[in-house]
Amino acid sequence: MSAYPRLFTPLRIGPLTLANRIVMGSMHTRLEAADRPAERLAAFYAARARGGAGMIITGGVSPDSPGRMEEDAGIFASRDEIPFHRAIVGAVHAAGAPICLQILHAGRYAKCSDVVGASDIASPINRRKVRVLADDEVERTIDAFATTAALAREAGYDGVEIMASEGYLVTQFTCPRTNNRTDRWGGPLENRLRFPVEIVRRTRARVGRDFLIVYRISALDLVEHGLSADETIAQARAVADAGVDLFDTGIGWHEARVPTIAYMVPRAGFAFAVKRLREAVAVPVMATNRINTPEVAEKLLAEGVADAVSLARPMLADEAFAAKARDGRGEEINTCIACNQACLDLIFANQAATCLVNPRAGRELDFPTGPAPRAKRVAVVGAGAAGLACAVTAAERGHAVTLYEAARTIGGQMNLAAAIPGKEFAETTRYFARRIERLGVTLRLGTRPSAAELASGAFDEIVVATGVTPRIPALEGVDHPKALRYDEVLSGAKRTGRRVAIVGAGGIGFDVAVFLSAPDGDHFLDAWGVDRSGASPGGLAPPVPEAVPREIWLLQRKPTAAGKTLGATTGWAIRAELARRGVKVLVGVEYRRIDDRGLHVVHDGADRVLEVDHVVLCAGQESVRTLHDELAARGVRAHLIGGAHVAAELDAFRAIDEGTRTALAL
Ligand code: NAP
Ligand code: SF4
Repeated sequence: MSAYPRLFTPLRIGPLTLANRIVMGSMHTRLEAADRPAERLAAFYAARARGGAGMIITGGVSPDSPGRMEEDAGIFASRDEIPFHRAIVGAVHAAGAPICLQILHAGRYAKCSDVVGASDIASPINRRKVRVLADDEVERTIDAFATTAALAREAGYDGVEIMASEGYLVTQFTCPRTNNRTDRWGGPLENRLRFPVEIVRRTRARVGRDFLIVYRISALDLVEHGLSADETIAQARAVADAGVDLFDTGIGWHEARVPTIAYMVPRAGFAFAVKRLREAVAVPVMATNRINTPEVAEKLLAEGVADAVSLARPMLADEAFAAKARDGRGEEINTCIACNQACLDLIFANQAATCLVNPRAGRELDFPTGPAPRAKRVAVVGAGAAGLACAVTAAERGHAVTLYEAARTIGGQMNLAAAIPGKEFAETTRYFARRIERLGVTLRLGTRPSAAELASGAFDEIVVATGVTPRIPALEGVDHPKALRYDEVLSGAKRTGRRVAIVGAGGIGFDVAVFLSAPDGDHFLDAWGVDRSGASPGGLAPPVPEAVPREIWLLQRKPTAAGKTLGATTGWAIRAELARRGVKVLVGVEYRRIDDRGLHVVHDGADRVLEVDHVVLCAGQESVRTLHDELAARGVRAHLIGGAHVAAELDAFRAIDEGTRTALAL
């Protein structure tokens, strides 16, 4: 009996029967812009199909030139493109899963020269001028969707997904926010729905009955002048009547000022909107957004929220998510921690997506698999992110690994990050712990091996991943009892009073500000102003103030805006959350001293005393390299990785990547 009986009950949809209800949802990877794109995409999706996904939905492909997200994005508008897609489809089918092509028209989100939309209303996240589609162009765009679907069928795809969420062109037609037309495509809801209904109707007419049409509907727009719940349901019923077999769901437009997938969103936090939709339509519905474990997915099915789940980032994090859940190995799943650091943040920087917890993702062709040419005896010193990734990868390649850790638990800095509300690094340490057990890595906790011991000849390779230590700034009074290190605060070893100054506004300074300002309990939807009732257009409500437990100042010496180093897709939400909680950010400060009164600074040319109970030092880190230096003094070569190698700008992404690559090169 499966631990997740509902997830592993086959699902009949349209012409297909899915082996299970875990679908790999669409995600933009930018692999199409890399070298050997068809080969890369085929390897990427096939790995997920082999990993047990019930179905794969590709990243979005445009039906025409103005619909592209960016100039070098893919279009599928002619038969010339069929061989490219056949390579992908063939690999996925050979791996045992059906695959659908997502058709996405970016509309006013396109970062191209000719940006088109329902109206000439530019987006706050893409200031390019928008050219209004004339009536005949709207007709041609609808036909382009249907043509791409017909081409997809010819290329062997099992179906298509019509992208009608996140604020792309279809949503731009459905919502008054972006549609002020007065012709048959604008005005009353029936007119605004004409565009999606015609897309589905003409697509169905071109592809026939035995081809899946998935419609990714915006279950909640989270923008002003978006659709109400009743209007969303009216849309769902209209497109279902036109020929949709399955609904996928999307939450929030890209320009929404409510985080929808980042780590601060509670798991399955928007399930209420999906359930409302499912209860109103006869067609099966898939749930999305912050579903990252089989337990959460199974619960959604058990509670009648959805018929299946659509997981994108969790499939980056672990291509075998579904197979592990099926085989009772759920504890071995490498869980997506919703950090966005190596997927969406890289896409924003025009790079291909990979994954912080799984650096192989998207690089299937570049990372060797299988045993190393010669099995070696490997010592890894330090079980933080870098050391863990190195030890586990080395063991996977057949090396005999001994992993030393001075503390009583593995995890290093990840254990501190796990204290921040929403940050799920505890899942990453759990994953590594299970891998260590399963691979037979010898784990020596509470042990600091000496250079002499390591150099004794017991090991062929030595990897030093001894990590970092907090930097203590040279500041008068830094040894005053009011001064605390961030690790003391986050580990719970020391508690702060009600008034706190934070020295250093880097990633950790911001994390500590979130940690200290967070109220008890989950207030996410209320605090971010999400309306659960369904009555308001776009699903927005006035935010409800949180009971903030402390008065906080967050300080930096640089005069530039604080928070520049935070992630592109999460930083804005962290800054907004802290502003809402009344955290005062001071930049361009000079620190004078810490004493019984608090923290003395110069700000805006004036002396000022922040009369605080505690000052938390978040002034960066320094490498811990003693062991490496001692080995070097003995003439013993060791690999130095992670924070022990370079402390500046270290994060778990670089640490895990470096640990993995070091192990692959042993
Ligand atoms: P950091 O980002 O380098 O920030 C250190 C802060 O301390 C800076 O604001 C710096 O600003 C200040 N500082 C440096 N030396 C100082 C001194 N001697 N006296 C007083 N202030 C000093 O380091 P971190 O915050 O420890 O973060 C470490 C790494 O983890 C970073 O790479 C960070 O990006 C990463 N991280 C990322 C996240 C995330 O959300 N993605 C979260 C946590 C950590 P001034 O010099 O201007 O005062
Ligand atoms: Fe998830 Fe972070 Fe990996 Fe993206 S980088 S898939 S958010 S764990």
